[in-house]
Amino acid sequence: MTVPTDRPTPTGAKPRITILGAGPAGIAAAYALSKGKAEVEVLERAPVAGGNSTSFQIDGIWCDYGSHRFHPVADENVLADVKALLGDDLLLQPRHGRIRLGGRWIHFPLKPADALLRLPKPFAASLLADMLLKPFRRKRTGEKSFSSILYDGLGRTISENFYFPYVKKLWGLDPDKLAVMLAERRVSSGSVGKILAKMMRMLPGMRGATTGRFYYPRKGFGQISQSMVDAASAQGAAFRFGADIARIERTKMQVTGVVVRDGDKEVRHSADQIFSTIPLTTVVRLMDPPPPPAVTMAADSIRFRGMILVYLILKTDQFTEYDAHYFPELSIPISRMSEPKNYNSATEPKGRTILCAELPCDPGEKWWDMSDEEIGHHFVKWLEGVGLPVTMEVDRCETRRLAHAYPVYDLDYQRHFETVDNWLLGLEGFLSFGRQGLFAHDNTHHAFAMAYAAVDSLRPDGTVDRAKWAAHRHEFESHRVED
Ligand SMILES: Cc1cc2nc3c(=O)[nH]c(=O)nc-3n(C[C@H](O)[C@H](O)[C@H](O)COP(=O)(O)OP(=O)(O)OC[C@H]3O[C@@H](n4cnc5c(N)ncnc54)[C@H](O)[C@@H]3O)c2cc1C
Repeated sequence: MTVPTDRPTPTGAKPRITILGAGPAGIAAAYALSKGKAEVEVLERAPVAGGNSTSFQIDGIWCDYGSHRFHPVADENVLADVKALLGDDLLLQPRHGRIRLGGRWIHFPLKPADALLRLPKPFAASLLADMLLKPFRRKRTGEKSFSSILYDGLGRTISENFYFPYVKKLWGLDPDKLAVMLAERRVSSGSVGKILAKMMRMLPGMRGATTGRFYYPRKGFGQISQSMVDAASAQGAAFRFGADIARIERTKMQVTGVVVRDGDKEVRHSADQIFSTIPLTTVVRLMDPPPPPAVTMAADSIRFRGMILVYLILKTDQFTEYDAHYFPELSIPISRMSEPKNYNSATEPKGRTILCAELPCDPGEKWWDMSDEEIGHHFVKWLEGVGLPVTMEVDRCETRRLAHAYPVYDLDYQRHFETVDNWLLGLEGFLSFGRQGLFAHDNTHHAFAMAYAAVDSLRPDGTVDRAKWAAHRHEFESHRVED
């Protein structure tokens, strides 16, 4: 990989930065840059801001693309900005969910007393045995995968009853076809001992002010992004929604501009830097001239998992008191169900609530082309099957589809990702970051942290301090997904 030397902006002038994508990463970059550091414009394909973290109303109820919480473990500066932007609209809510394990409902996040009383006894005994026998367990040999790492760390009980079916549902792949990285990113408690330690921190007296809690805005999770868009716009950032990017132009390894279709015309946007937060695979497809065949082929092998969000609109005030229900078992195809009104403790509108199911699914799978009504019927049946019958009148069902919900960390992804990433890193005037730009299975606060790091790496002359960016990239490796 050749390290690029970007062309500096003439002395005195502010650098001009074009940001691709107005999800949390793009928005946070626009917000931080427009505080006097650069002239900013954001090109977003969708008609609204927020990406996968946006919100919208259905019948007066704020809904998200599946369960979204802002986690208190966010970096201090990220949390401080979110608190300052939202003020009293940012609620600190207790987590109050349930998970189905061994046919029983257990509070989630796990609480010691509840788990002790409710876990089926054979399950609890086998979990304990896994913990006690860990030092004597024979480590798996051969190529490491998600399943071997979990067997070695957590043992059979929690791996086979919780993680394996859950990841199979989420990614559509067997756990031995998934990479070690998924375990590193996703499984923050790598041993039964750590799970128990986490549970102990839920005990009264052991808890911190935010243990077992999450931040959530009054007007849906997307209010976080929207408040940043408003602040960035007030600082002079320009947001262009509905932007149809035709190509990203380059001369050798220098990116020279982005061309956007406008009816039958084309408009060229040139900048000192393109900060891209759109999928790295899309970047490769838009690049003109195209990258070398090895890069294009690697990009073609990188996969994102899609998701259908199913919104069941019920004629009742509240379905249950729980914010979310988690379904690790394979007998039900949804991974999680949330009740949006319970996230912001909304009591209005009366006589209406919504259940949002997360159905992991790719375009082409049977669910993808099914009508809303048909999926709604299935949803009601799935709930009945787990002892949550829908006894009230169903008004209707609506769906939304995400093509880029989760990066797929299969066994080959790392080398494909590195091929594309290294080529993109070699481009002058271009920086890729965010969940889609770095193929990172991350939370929103991580997307914000990446954006702030990109802005920190921008020099006043519009070039990027590549050594600083490399150090930040190293920090991103410590990001762990919170559920
Ligand atoms: C089901 C689900 C639940 C989640 N729960 C949580 C949670 O509880 N807490 C949490 O912190 N995070 C959660 N996340 C993760 C969170 O949604 C992401 O971390 C966050 O949205 C990433 O922001 P981003 O800007 O990097 O990417 P995105 O949000 O994906 O934004 C990318 C943007 O790029 C735009 N774009 C794409 N292609 C183009 C193009 N060709 N031209 C122009 N624009 C383009 C998209 O329209 C989008 O606006 C969840 C994610 C999912 C899928």
